Amino acid sequence: MAPDATTDDTDSDGPHADPDGSDDPDDPHDSDAPDAYDALLDRVRRWNTVDSAAGVLGWDQQVMMPKGGTPARAKQLSTLSSIRHDMVTDDRTADLLADLNDADLTDERSAAVREVRREHERADAVPVELVEAISETGSEALAAWEEAKAEDDFGTFAPYLEKHVELKREYATHIDPDRDPYAVLFEDYEPCLPLERAESILTELREALVPTIEAIRESDVDLAVDTFEGEFPADEQEALVRDALEMVGYDFDRGRLDVSSHPFTSGNQFDCRVTTRFDESDPLSAIGSTIHEFGHAQYTLGLPQEHWATPLGQSRDLSVHESQSRLWENHVGRSRAFWERFLPTVQERFPDTADATVEDAYGAVNQVYEDNFIRVEADELTYHLHIVVRFEIERDLIRGDLAVEDVPEVWNDKYEEYLGIRPETDTEGCLQDIHWSHGNFGYFPTYSLGSVMAAQLYEAAEADVDDLETKVADGDFDDLRDWLAENVHRHGSRYETNELVERATGEAFTADAFLEYVDRKYGELYDM
Ligand code: ZN
Repeated sequence: MAPDATTDDTDSDGPHADPDGSDDPDDPHDSDAPDAYDALLDRVRRWNTVDSAAGVLGWDQQVMMPKGGTPARAKQLSTLSSIRHDMVTDDRTADLLADLNDADLTDERSAAVREVRREHERADAVPVELVEAISETGSEALAAWEEAKAEDDFGTFAPYLEKHVELKREYATHIDPDRDPYAVLFEDYEPCLPLERAESILTELREALVPTIEAIRESDVDLAVDTFEGEFPADEQEALVRDALEMVGYDFDRGRLDVSSHPFTSGNQFDCRVTTRFDESDPLSAIGSTIHEFGHAQYTLGLPQEHWATPLGQSRDLSVHESQSRLWENHVGRSRAFWERFLPTVQERFPDTADATVEDAYGAVNQVYEDNFIRVEADELTYHLHIVVRFEIERDLIRGDLAVEDVPEVWNDKYEEYLGIRPETDTEGCLQDIHWSHGNFGYFPTYSLGSVMAAQLYEAAEADVDDLETKVADGDFDDLRDWLAENVHRHGSRYETNELVERATGEAFTADAFLEYVDRKYGELYDM
């Protein structure tokens, strides 16, 4: 491991030290611009260390902090965020990037500079006042959204949504006035996957899944089983999800499990923590969501330690991250093989489920909820149509093709068209998600893209790993973990999204593997 790979080293200069003096004299890869490269990376490590400290504060806020801590925590986080922003945008960073403009760098170093340059240019393009206006609107919008959702009154939220759309369009114009503003916003979450590809994948999902879900609705098969109904105390569920984490190979020496109101993963390659939550009437949901978070954590823990706090030691963007969580949640955790191994553990913790068979469990975790309106409660299949609705609406809002006041009706029309159900209230319709109250437009698609990518990666892993299914049924996940570490995790942000997928799977990123998986799996489950 390189000597600069720990937080202590990168912090030791203090936040105001001049990075010039800290070039690494032992680096064997010096080329034309070694001083500029090392100086730049030193800065990058320091701003990312600030970010990672903010991450610990964020984790604490959601897991440990007493309610009263909010005012101080908000200040701590906004101060760290503005320190980081200043470092990313200041003249010294710009000068170093200019020095590296035509430098002859190794591929690895070019990739690191490409990532830093992109971040600098975007941050630099947007005036600080606009960033602040967006953040302020976010706080007001959040309060309005909470009230609107509680009261089922879209009108309370509409002016804030309007304001967000306006500010985000302005934001996109600062970054690039000549491009589709939605494509520009999408890059905040997915900087190196072109929107056209994302859009064509989502369109394919809609075209394939609408008729599949309709056919499931008409099928006589019912996968619900009452063996997983009843009371499942949270402490027993916690023991059970710990069993699951042990089984898939979560490294508790570099992580921990806690409870939070929304499950999440937070950390770095040295310490990456997961959270979960329990519904005492449904033990399957905590198992699924814990395995999901494990997939995120496993990615982060697999990033190269020697590249800590630099692009080569950071994950690729949201859809790749989500591909890792969904690969574990869906392709492992919703497989028959997994339940062959894990059902006895469930039955040991919950003797009332003793009658359940592997087929019961497999059916229960894969049942399609035809009448569900809520994205976060959706099954593996209908989930993507929830996303397509949001994607089409936010895209049209940002492009100016849809007025805010028309959102509820368009939302309901699309639910009817794609899912065959029509929400009766906006609370269970367009007010259900928090994302737009934060002004996050372009985020939703990454969830579906992650699932699609997961299928393609899992197909490649199955081809490369001998008897993967048998190994899963034996609770032996070593080879799968190694395959993911080797083909995805260790690359950090070195490759852009499509190249990463192509190197791992031999094919460009498409929806093919996912749609084949859906046909195979649900065709069998629902007798179609
Ligand atoms: Zn996730």
